[in-house]
Amino acid sequence: MKRNIFIVIALAIIISGCTKVPFSGRKQLRLLPSTQMNAMAFDAYSQFLNENQISTNHQYKSLVSNVGNKMKNSISSYLNSKNMKDRIAGFQWEFNVVKDNQVNAWAMPGGKVVFYEGIMPKCKDETGVAVVMGHEIAHIIAKHGNERMTQGLLAQMGGLALDVALEKQPEQTRNIFLAAYGVGAQVGMMLPYSRTHEKEADRIGLIIMAMAGYDPGEAIGFWQRMEQSGGGQIPEFLSTHPSYDTRIQELKKHLPEAMKYYNGTSSGKKGNKGNKKGDNGNKKGNKGKFKIGGN
Ligand SMILES: [Zn+2]
Repeated sequence: MKRNIFIVIALAIIISGCTKVPFSGRKQLRLLPSTQMNAMAFDAYSQFLNENQISTNHQYKSLVSNVGNKMKNSISSYLNSKNMKDRIAGFQWEFNVVKDNQVNAWAMPGGKVVFYEGIMPKCKDETGVAVVMGHEIAHIIAKHGNERMTQGLLAQMGGLALDVALEKQPEQTRNIFLAAYGVGAQVGMMLPYSRTHEKEADRIGLIIMAMAGYDPGEAIGFWQRMEQSGGGQIPEFLSTHPSYDTRIQELKKHLPEAMKYYNGTSSGKKGNKGNKKGDNGNKKGNKGKFKIGGN
């Protein structure tokens, strides 16, 4: 059996090649067809929306969809320009807010994002929303879901060739997806991503923020606010980090990399940031436009 698993993995690597995650350059093994990942995600996402109440707070909804759409546009044009548009093939982007006081947000493959009302006061303003959105979109772009599914499939179906497994056991494949995303049992409470995935999503999230015209340095303030507010829940984006301090240190380490995209012309959205770096006007723009009333 072990030998079979090895052969499956080896063949898969030869046939599909190990692809590299944008920005981090980490090699990853993704064996599920994107069309299948997307289809399963679209089903699960609409099931979630059917079973949960969509927020009626217009400010929250427009903030989340504005930030989501800006980021979608910047990352899409970047990936297109780098011949990586397969990363977003077949996507149907959607950014929703649900009426729920949990401090939480998560994403599914194919461009599906959910914010919970409870996270909005913690975000404080549009840039705060961008911190969370950048992290979630980073999970999507990095295809962490497919990688995690691949690991699950190899563990459970290692003896079978993958195409046989997908064809003969679609139910089992679907179950692995549902288990990974916690759909069915406790919807929206995802199994934690690995620390590698979390750190990578933080790093790429800063870059996505910068590309969309948000100052990635503001992520530090967001995490400091999260640390101060504490709370016993473990939302998706807190899942596998040992401490806020470690996370903030890592973010600081990756800031210079992200700032290259902030100061560049990639997003072309000049109005989102100040004209001169370093002066007081630099922090005008996205941050000041919308304030979220806390409670
Ligand atoms: Zn995460």
